[in-house]
Amino acid sequence: MYGKIKNHLTSELKALEDGGIYKRERIIVTPQGAKVKVDSGKEVIIMCANNYLGLSSHPEVIKGAKEALDTHGYGMSSVRFICGTQDIHKTLERKIAEFYGTEDTILYAAAFDANGGVFEPLFTEEDAIISDELNHASIIDGIRLCKAQRYRYKHSDMNDLEEQLKKAQAQRFRIIVTDGVFSMDGDIAKMNEIVALAEKYDALVMSDECHSAGFIGKTGRGVPEYYGVQGKVDIITGTLGKALGGAMGGYTTGPKEIIDMLRQKSRPYLFSNSLSPAIVGASIKVFDLLSATTELRDKLEANTKYFKDKIIAAGFDIKPGDSPIVPIMLYDAALSQKFADRLLEEGVYAIGFFYPVVAKGQARIRTQISAAHSLEDLDKAANAFIQVGKELGVIK
Ligand SMILES: *Cc1c(COP(=O)(O)O)cnc(C)c1O
Repeated sequence: MYGKIKNHLTSELKALEDGGIYKRERIIVTPQGAKVKVDSGKEVIIMCANNYLGLSSHPEVIKGAKEALDTHGYGMSSVRFICGTQDIHKTLERKIAEFYGTEDTILYAAAFDANGGVFEPLFTEEDAIISDELNHASIIDGIRLCKAQRYRYKHSDMNDLEEQLKKAQAQRFRIIVTDGVFSMDGDIAKMNEIVALAEKYDALVMSDECHSAGFIGKTGRGVPEYYGVQGKVDIITGTLGKALGGAMGGYTTGPKEIIDMLRQKSRPYLFSNSLSPAIVGASIKVFDLLSATTELRDKLEANTKYFKDKIIAAGFDIKPGDSPIVPIMLYDAALSQKFADRLLEEGVYAIGFFYPVVAKGQARIRTQISAAHSLEDLDKAANAFIQVGKELGVIK
């Protein structure tokens, strides 16, 4: 009987609107790319997609999807262990393992599921999970689903991590869990120090490479490569839905016993459908591309430097860091919304983030650079920031 809850929801929704935290979606009518058209017909430069390598609409990737659609059909109508495993699923799992230099890989419908299903099959109440306080929601949910003892350390605070590791010495197994790159500030986890502490206190290390796989590190192998600790991060999770094609899908890669146990017991793998052949075919192309050349991640690095230099020279305050996430700090929530609206009018699509997505008083426009951007796109985007910044009194 839909009655009382309707009124309750209506007032809760109104409270979100009144609080200015009701999320509205802008409508795009073209493929994802450096530029998109929104439903008003206006063409705008996208500065907030996770399309870091420009693969979301890359012709080779689309071709990979179409070919797999022709050769392997649309869907499997099954989970993997019943009748949902095709040769291409195994090929993709092998290619991801080769890319990282790991033993095996397991695919999921999303990285949310990879993180949601990684802890419970491996750890019990006898064990300890030690997690950065700013880890992604899917890691937090995955930990909730597991009976292990929970320890949380202050964001990237290695002294606090060490304290938590000391406290966790009574447990049987320990695992330190961190995002590789934190998406709101674009800062990179101190993986070298984390690995050193893991060795000192006998812990496994897991990194969620959703915002780093394919472009952080000299050859795009992610944060472990950035710090030269490849092979010392035991478990890596990642998404196919950001830099690596941008559709959907996730994976966990690591030692073969761990991956084997996940295939036996990980609930989002056992009880959710097999990844569609088109996504698998496109993803195989993605890993082939990235294994053949570093051209795209090199272009992304150059683009990021180009845009950052312009924004800093104009007098904006940005969060420093080595990732293509460039948060332009405005500090004021209302200003961030006004700024984003004005940017759209100037042909730049970017979103203002404020509390509770980021800490109070830390409102910002988070820009994300792509290898798909031309220097002209970045010039236009920077100029729009400068114009709106002057108009709203953010810069002189
Ligand atoms: C986006 C993201 C996820 C979720 O990835 P999906 O494949 O979209 O489910 C998980 N972890 C981190 C750090 C992310 O940024």
